[in-house]
Amino acid sequence: MRITKIEVYKVDLPLEHPYWLSGGRLKFECLDATFVKLETDAGIIGWGEGTPWGHTYVPAHGPGIRAGIETMAPFILGLDPRKVLEVERAMDLALPGHLYAKSPVDMACWDIAGQAAGLTIADLMGGGSRTPKPIASSVGAKTVDETRAVIDRYRQRGYVAHSVKIGGDVERDIARVRDVENMRKPGEIILYDVNRGWTRQQALRVMHATEDLCVTFEQPTESLDDIAAIRPLHSAPVSVDESLVTLQDAARIARDGLAEVFGIKLNRVGGLTKAARMRDIALAHGIDIFVMATGGSVLADTEALHLAATIPDQNIRAVWACQDMITVDVANGRGPRNIDGHLHLPEEPGLGVHPDEDALGDPVAIYSL
Ligand code: MG
Repeated sequence: MRITKIEVYKVDLPLEHPYWLSGGRLKFECLDATFVKLETDAGIIGWGEGTPWGHTYVPAHGPGIRAGIETMAPFILGLDPRKVLEVERAMDLALPGHLYAKSPVDMACWDIAGQAAGLTIADLMGGGSRTPKPIASSVGAKTVDETRAVIDRYRQRGYVAHSVKIGGDVERDIARVRDVENMRKPGEIILYDVNRGWTRQQALRVMHATEDLCVTFEQPTESLDDIAAIRPLHSAPVSVDESLVTLQDAARIARDGLAEVFGIKLNRVGGLTKAARMRDIALAHGIDIFVMATGGSVLADTEALHLAATIPDQNIRAVWACQDMITVDVANGRGPRNIDGHLHLPEEPGLGVHPDEDALGDPVAIYSL
């Protein structure tokens, strides 16, 4: 089987509500999504998606995905998409780094490989758990009362996992953490996501003030160096996501004991092939995993769900899905959707969901043999 054609689509995915990060410095209103259609000489078609969370959040660039695919296309055409490692090496040779540009191609190859094998991607990767995966909410409220109200709204929709965004004012952060823990229900999974919002000093002030609660803080500070520097000075469990990009990052975090949770974002780390290695490093070192779409449509959510399904149930904290935050549905209701705050693995071979081509418009680029 050979890849004979690559079609690239650009779609704007508006967010239902503006989303603020970094203490209000960064505003997000629309995500720049790239969809990739791979055609093969066997008649099997695969779809991939790459949707960074804007371009001000971390080094990832929507137009950069399309430029990267233009550069990599001559190296990808003609390859067997079922041989995902060969495609991965070809992309790494054609364009070192730029992992976010590679993930949609990797995803489309896994989609084709699954369809060819008659297996879901998760089963093709070694076996997928059918346990529904809790979707983490995204609680971006500011005050104690607003935080309560938002979490309650999510609870009414069935959510048991919550990512509470903190990282603004230290005193307010402490008050919000203590209040959320006070009203925490049995079995709820709660992560306090700082999104790099604290200095080392600020992180230590909150971690010390909430030490009795043993709550998990995600990406408390900017870099792995910061996380390592304060590590001996507090006892709070830590999750790392923005600083988990390469396999070398994963190896360092595991070896140096910098985190108890990996937050793996599929687009950021370059797709399923590379993410699977991070999963294995985590599991080998007693580190739990939170799998996330970086952003995007139900396709990106489904990719995250497949990886999550390959993680033992006791080691997967939750998934994050973006589908409820955007106002455009490229798959017309198909694919795994939020049911009572959970996603269920699709049983169709391959990814299990494809976009409506009518919803994508015309391709912005076509490369063929
Ligand atoms: Mg995070």
